[in-house]
Amino acid sequence: MIPYGHQSISQADIDAVDEVLRSDWLTQGPAVPRFEGTVAQASGATFAVACSNGTAALHIAALAAGLGPGDLLWTVPNTFVASANCARYCGADVGFVDIDEHTHCIDVSDLEARLERADRSGRLPSVVVPVDFAGLPCEMARVRELADRYGFTVIEDAAHALGATYRGTPVGSGAYAHMTTLSFHPVKLVTTGEGGMVLTESPDLDGRLRLFRNHGITRDRQLMEVHDEGAWYYEQVELGYNYRLTDIQAALGASQMDRLETFLDERRRLAERYDELLDGLPLALPPRSEGSESAWHLYVVRVPAVFGRSRLEVFDSMRQAGIGVNVHYIPVHLQPYYRRLGFGPGDFPAAERYYSEALTLPLYPGLTDAEQESVAVALRDALR
Ligand SMILES: *Cc1c(COP(=O)(O)O)cnc(C)c1O
Repeated sequence: MIPYGHQSISQADIDAVDEVLRSDWLTQGPAVPRFEGTVAQASGATFAVACSNGTAALHIAALAAGLGPGDLLWTVPNTFVASANCARYCGADVGFVDIDEHTHCIDVSDLEARLERADRSGRLPSVVVPVDFAGLPCEMARVRELADRYGFTVIEDAAHALGATYRGTPVGSGAYAHMTTLSFHPVKLVTTGEGGMVLTESPDLDGRLRLFRNHGITRDRQLMEVHDEGAWYYEQVELGYNYRLTDIQAALGASQMDRLETFLDERRRLAERYDELLDGLPLALPPRSEGSESAWHLYVVRVPAVFGRSRLEVFDSMRQAGIGVNVHYIPVHLQPYYRRLGFGPGDFPAAERYYSEALTLPLYPGLTDAEQESVAVALRDALR
């Protein structure tokens, strides 16, 4: 089976991990700030806080934004459940904004309309989480304009978009989002096995993210509330978590970052080649966005049932042909947990329509030209 995504591990990656295993540090040590530095530099961010996974990154970002019981976080249905769950971890409520039919990212007109209504009813979100779906940046300038008008914090979920650019600036540079979160799960752009990171321009948010990553504990005298009793002394000033990344993981991440540009070039080349191989089929190919450069985490086509074969038939036929196609994403508001909170079918029609047609094709550095051709042949056969 050709998988839909796969990590690329080099001898240099193995050597980097090997070196840490022979050193004195296994948990968070010198490799973590080194990894944070490489990601900050590639993204144009000032501060970078590594943590145990992308879900933890969203959680500490929501906590750093001050999200708590009674507050409201909005995200899109077309995302992994973690983008919404981070609010629930904080005791906050979740709302959704529908997606744009073309980009499959947040529909900024729907966001604006919902904000106007929420303002009138006195129930504005304090955090909005736009998701750079498949690696394509959202319309962040308009999101930020609305954030400044309505006073919410923007946490950009860029789990798909490390290395993408929006209006010439790298995702994570902080030009539009207050915080940007990343994931280093093996199918993402670079991997640490499990891992995540939050990027920000704010020294205050950086400090809070570091507290929440490590039990809410500080050794910084400026942050202490009682007094310094000696060199052993630390204070827990918030309720934080153990969301640290290990040095073993960070060394792998830093080594992977050496190949970020190569990975991005390879993904872009494969995406362009899919465009050519699939030209003329009754499909909608992935969107492009004027002024943006996607990181091509996913290559998603839409199989509109009106042209004959349903997405389910095409999916089953391709799996039988040994192609590990997948579907991203089941709309979060239709998950049983969120249905119990009052959401249901028909609430977000664009996300639901998109979901009924979406099909993710294999795309990762190392996918060979021959494998890619066999994906195109299987898809052509499935549509026949
Ligand atoms: C992968 C992913 C996450 C969660 O990341 P983990 O590292 O798996 O916890 C969050 N949001 C999106 C959009 C993702 O794709």
